Amino acid sequence: MAVPKRKTSPSKRNMRRSHHALTVESFQECSNCGELKRPHHLCAACGHHNGREVLQVEA
Ligand SMILES: [Zn+2]
Repeated sequence: MAVPKRKTSPSKRNMRRSHHALTVESFQECSNCGELKRPHHLCAACGHHNGREVLQVEA
């Protein structure tokens, strides 16, 4: 089995991890109820998406 000859240096290890940062999730206001929702997702508060009720949500 192929095995690395040398231990990865802290510099190289951190270079590899430079792409690992988490990003904050984006939110938009629901056009129907104004609640914050994820873009392109069904509104969890009222069940609307793209101007129509997709899912019945119990009040
Ligand atoms: Zn909504």
